[in-house]
Amino acid sequence: MTVRGVLSLRWLLIFFYIPWVSANPDFQELVEADSDVGNWLTHGRTYSETRQSPLVQINPSNIDNLGLAWSFDTGTKRGLEASPIVVDGVIYSTAAWSTVFANDAVTGELLWRFDPKVPRQWGANACCDVVNRGVAVLNDHLFVGTIDGRLVALNRFSGDVVWETLTIDKSKPYTITGAPRVIKDLVMIGNGGAEYGVRGYISAYHVDTGKLSWRFYTVPGDPDLPQESSAMEMARKTWTGDLYWQVGGGGTVWDSMAYDPDLDLLYIGTGNGSPWNRHIRSPGGGDNLFLSSIVALKASSGEYVWHYQTTPAETWDYTATQHMVLADLLIEGELRQVLMQAPKNGFFYVLDRRTGELISAQNYVPISWASHVDLLTGRPVETAIADHVNDSQWTRPAPFGGHNWQPMAFNSSTGLMYIPAMENLSVYNTPETFKFNKGSHWNTAQDDEANLEGPSAEQMLPLMKRLLTGMTIAWDPVKQREIWRVQHNTMWNGGLLTTAANLVFQGTGEGRFSAYDATTGRRLWETDVGNGIIAPPISYAVNGEQYVAVMAGWGGAVGLVLAEDDAKAGGPGRLLVYKLGSKAKLPQVLQKEPVFRRRQMAASDLQLENGMLLYNQHCMRCHGMGVANKGLTSDLRMMSDDTHRLFKPIVLEGLYRSVGMIGFADVLSESDVSDIHQYINAAANSQWQQQQQPAWLISFKQWFLDKVGLILALVL
Ligand code: CA
Repeated sequence: MTVRGVLSLRWLLIFFYIPWVSANPDFQELVEADSDVGNWLTHGRTYSETRQSPLVQINPSNIDNLGLAWSFDTGTKRGLEASPIVVDGVIYSTAAWSTVFANDAVTGELLWRFDPKVPRQWGANACCDVVNRGVAVLNDHLFVGTIDGRLVALNRFSGDVVWETLTIDKSKPYTITGAPRVIKDLVMIGNGGAEYGVRGYISAYHVDTGKLSWRFYTVPGDPDLPQESSAMEMARKTWTGDLYWQVGGGGTVWDSMAYDPDLDLLYIGTGNGSPWNRHIRSPGGGDNLFLSSIVALKASSGEYVWHYQTTPAETWDYTATQHMVLADLLIEGELRQVLMQAPKNGFFYVLDRRTGELISAQNYVPISWASHVDLLTGRPVETAIADHVNDSQWTRPAPFGGHNWQPMAFNSSTGLMYIPAMENLSVYNTPETFKFNKGSHWNTAQDDEANLEGPSAEQMLPLMKRLLTGMTIAWDPVKQREIWRVQHNTMWNGGLLTTAANLVFQGTGEGRFSAYDATTGRRLWETDVGNGIIAPPISYAVNGEQYVAVMAGWGGAVGLVLAEDDAKAGGPGRLLVYKLGSKAKLPQVLQKEPVFRRRQMAASDLQLENGMLLYNQHCMRCHGMGVANKGLTSDLRMMSDDTHRLFKPIVLEGLYRSVGMIGFADVLSESDVSDIHQYINAAANSQWQQQQQPAWLISFKQWFLDKVGLILALVL
C-alpha cells in the first residue's frame, strides 16, 4: 500500500469517531487527550507536552490546497503567544493584557470575550511584554492567569466569572504570562518578575472554589525564619549573604510544566536568579537551588521529589523555564522514560523523569560559557570567560537564550525534536555597585555598558543584530545531534507543531507561516500573514475536517527590546485558521512608513552617555534598544510636540499612567530626565539622517554589516 493509502485509511478511521466524541473534559479525558484526536485539550496537547497532532487529513500530498478558513482580530497589537485550546468545535484563546476569546472553530464567529481589565500601569512590571500563553480547561471551567497576578475561573459556555483569586503579593512586581495546568481537582499557576526582584513559587488552587491547596517556593526566604518546606531548608544551604532574599532570589515558574499521570509527578521549570549577578546575589558562592532547575513535585501535595539544576550559580539569565517534553526513548537498548528540555543555556538535556538522573546533554547551538556537561557529576564545566567578576565578557548565548519560551514539538515517528532555536551573544560584567530599587525597576545587577572596553553594546547594535539569528533545528535526542535545520531571517520566531502526517508547522518573525517535511526539513507550503508569528500552531478537527490554527502578533521579550529589521509587527493581532480547499483573504492592513523629524538639541557627550545608561535601565524594556521600536509601544523617536513639552511630567510624575507609562520620580532626578530626553532626540535625529540617505548607500551599509557580522561571528 502506498504512503497515501495508509494515510487515507488512517484518516477514515479517525473520521468515524470524531463526530461522536462529546466532551465536557474531565481529568480522565485530559489524561487520555492523545486519543481524542479532534480536540486540543491541554496546553501542549497532552500532559507529555509533545505538541504532536495525530491528524493526517492535511498531508504532504494535498498541502498545496491549504488555505485560510477564517481569521479573527484580537483588537491588540502587542505580542500574541497563546496555544489555543479546542473542545468540540469551540476554540479558546488569549491575547495581550490577558483577554480571553471563545470562537466557533468552524466559522470563527465570536461566542464571547472576557477582559480581566488589567490596570495598564501593571504592564511596567512585565519584563517581556503583556503576553499570555493561553487557558486551561476542565469540565465546564476555563482558567486564565492575568498579568496582574490573578487566577480567574470562567464558565466556558458563557465567559462568566465563576471565581477569581489573587495569587501574588501586590507590593511586589509579579506578573503572570504562563498558561495554567489542571491536574485532578487542582489548577496550577506560577508567575514571573525575577528581573525586577521577586521570589519564585508555584501554587495549586482547588478548581471549584479557587481555594489555595498548596504552594511550593523555589528559592529560600529570610534565612532567620523557618523555611516553608524541607526542600527549602535544603536549598538554603546553597545560598550566601543577605541580599538575595531581600531582592527576592528569583527562580520564577513563569512558563513550562509537564505531568506524568503514572508517576503522578508534576515537572516545573524554574527561572533565573534575582538579581542575575551571582557575585552580588550570593557573594560567598553556592549553587543557589532551585534556580534554573527542573523540579519534580507530587502533583497532589506539592511535595518535592527530585531536581536537576541545569545552570548551578546561574548568572546569565539562563532560565530553565523552557518547554519540557516527556517521551519514552530507546537509549542503548533500553526503553527510558525521559524528560527533554532545551533551556536558554544552550544544552539539550535528556533526563530520566522518574529519578532526575542525567542521561545525556549536548549543546544544540554554539555556546561559550561552558565546554560541556560532565556526565558523572551532571554539572556543566564553565569556561575561563564564564565568570565575569573582573572584566566584561562577550558570552554566548545572550539572555535571550539558545531557545526561549516558544514551544518545541516532538514527533514520535521521526523521533526528532523540532526546536525554535537562536544564536546570540551579549556582554556580561559585574558592576562595582548595585542598588536595589524596590518597585517596577530593572534589578539585574548586570550593567552591560559599565567597564566595557572596546565598542559598547550601543555602538555594536547594528552589527549585533546581524550576529543574532534564528533557525529551526530538527534534533535527534538519542544521538544528541542535529539532523536538519531551516535558517530564518529573524531571530525571534514561532513555536512548533508536528503532525502524524510527517509535517512540521511554524511561523516566523517575518510573518511567513510554513509547513515542512518532518524528515528532511524541505518547505512544502508557505503563506504570508503580514504580521510576525511567535505563537505555536495547533491542529484540530470538527465534523471530519482538519484545521491548523496559529496566532499572529509579534512582540514578547525580543519584540519589545530589539527591533529586528526583518520582523513585521504592530499590525492587528489575529487568530488565523487554515483548512484544505479554503481561499479566504486576510483583511489588508495599510502599514504607515515611519516619519522621523529632526529636533534642535544641545547636549554634552556626558549628558548623552548618562541619558543612554538611564534609558537602558528604565526605558529600554518597553521602548526598545537604541530607541528603535516596531510600533508595539510608543516610538519615542516620533514623539509629538505635546509629548516633548510634557516629557518631564510624563516621565517623573506618571502623567500617562492610565495607558501604562508609569512615573519614575522614585529613581530619576529632573536632570536625569533631561539627559534621557536628549538621548532620545539624538536617536531620532540619527534616524532622520539615515532616512535622507540614498537607497543604494543604505543597502551597501547593510551588505557591509552582514559581511563584518559574519567575520565577527566566527571570532567572538
Ligand atoms: Ca529572565
